[in-house]
Amino acid sequence: MDSKLNELKHRLQEIADLGAASSILYWDMSTYMPPGGAASRGRQLGLLARLLHERFTDPAVGHLLDDLQAYGESLPYDSDDAALLRKTRRDYERQTRLPNEFVKALTEHTSAIYSLWEQARPANDFGMVRDALEKTLDYSRQYADFFPGYESIIDPLINDADYGMKATDVRAVFAQLREQLVPLVRAIAAQPPADESPVKQHYPEAGQRAFGETIIRAYGYDFTRGRQDKTAHPFATSFGHGDVRITTRFREDDLTDGLFSTLHESGHAMYEQGIAPELDATPLYGGTSAGVHESQSRLWENIVGRSRGFWEHWYPALQAAFPAQLGTVSLDAFYRAINMVMPSLIRTDADEVTYNLHVMLRFDLEMDMLEGRLAIKDLPEAWNARYTADMGVTPPNDKDGVLQDVHWYSGLIGGAFQGYTLGNILSAQFYERALAAHPEIPTEIAQGKFDTLRGWLTDNLYVHGSKYTAPELIARVTGGGLDVQPLVNYLRTKYGELYRLD
Ligand code: ZN
Repeated sequence: MDSKLNELKHRLQEIADLGAASSILYWDMSTYMPPGGAASRGRQLGLLARLLHERFTDPAVGHLLDDLQAYGESLPYDSDDAALLRKTRRDYERQTRLPNEFVKALTEHTSAIYSLWEQARPANDFGMVRDALEKTLDYSRQYADFFPGYESIIDPLINDADYGMKATDVRAVFAQLREQLVPLVRAIAAQPPADESPVKQHYPEAGQRAFGETIIRAYGYDFTRGRQDKTAHPFATSFGHGDVRITTRFREDDLTDGLFSTLHESGHAMYEQGIAPELDATPLYGGTSAGVHESQSRLWENIVGRSRGFWEHWYPALQAAFPAQLGTVSLDAFYRAINMVMPSLIRTDADEVTYNLHVMLRFDLEMDMLEGRLAIKDLPEAWNARYTADMGVTPPNDKDGVLQDVHWYSGLIGGAFQGYTLGNILSAQFYERALAAHPEIPTEIAQGKFDTLRGWLTDNLYVHGSKYTAPELIARVTGGGLDVQPLVNYLRTKYGELYRLD
């Protein structure tokens, strides 16, 4: 058994290394590559995707998994090897359904539409991506059809990112959340709006960058195993235990964009940096699902980074970094400015209260496209109508409407958006458990200390990587399943105080 297990591990390590090589090319494409590199980079990424897929779906891997099946089941459920065999089996079954040519064609298409979107957005020209997006929709449907027997066409896509969830589960959770969010949004809208002018001044980029990096260093993001660079659409990416990078962007007329992007991505990255090193270069080295991943970015961005206690400690340092902008602005005024609730056009800039309404709207549009009720040519109009109905704001152009972010232009349609709201729900559930174990955490945050919180998250979530599925991990940590109540309670308490609601 030992030699078979070693052979499997060796193969998986080579596959992980190919995957990391592909991630580095993607990181470079999104940070430093000149526009002229797009065509050859697409080809290179396509080749690596094909090689990765060929290697992983090699029948020899299937034989090794068959031979090791009984051995894996004889091990304790919690052992690394048992988890490795379970997860590899699941990934193998999934990957072997996808033909090699499909994987390669999809990867090439994805690079091509991404560079079209990079030009279409500033040009405010949906026509530039329309035909390519029709192809993406075709690919998305084809993808689902490789997994026949689904209940909803989006299920195979959701399963990829949030294993164990289905459209019916997502809809049920969204409905519960929406029912409690909409009255809260209305109650806030009836109050005088917050004044966000303190954060909408001129903030030179260098100072923003230095301050953000000071914070994430204090959080515990390890710069000896990471770095931060600039991009159009921030993300975190891991090439292995020793190299987990983040990217951000800055707007000199708005302090919050860069700062909270940095805090957000540091949460993703600390999750990856916290995985047990012995899982490195295996399929277990990575966050377990999109939703759990997002729970960590949102926890560090919002629950910690937009809290009153956090700024009691850090605001004087921010004022010292930007004395002309903030020298005479009170902590209270600043705290209100960074937590302003306002229905808006752009999801990534949305406040904590309205954010999930953006996600629900995108999920519904995805369902309409996948199920054939909405044609791509009618998408901008449908988008604008839905924003008018749900948010009371109509996008003045496609740049801030259907072209606003890289989703749909960097992957399939379907399978990604639910993860954002699941992440918000889980961030509040996990934080509630951390506080139950360590009631001193809020006091420590107000002293600029994060070790207890990060330590608890590392021991309970990060260290496991993908050893447990998301439903298993959530059950281990919370003793139950998804629950919208902690998020609703958190939002009601925080924003009830901020907006003086009854
Ligand atoms: Zn994120």
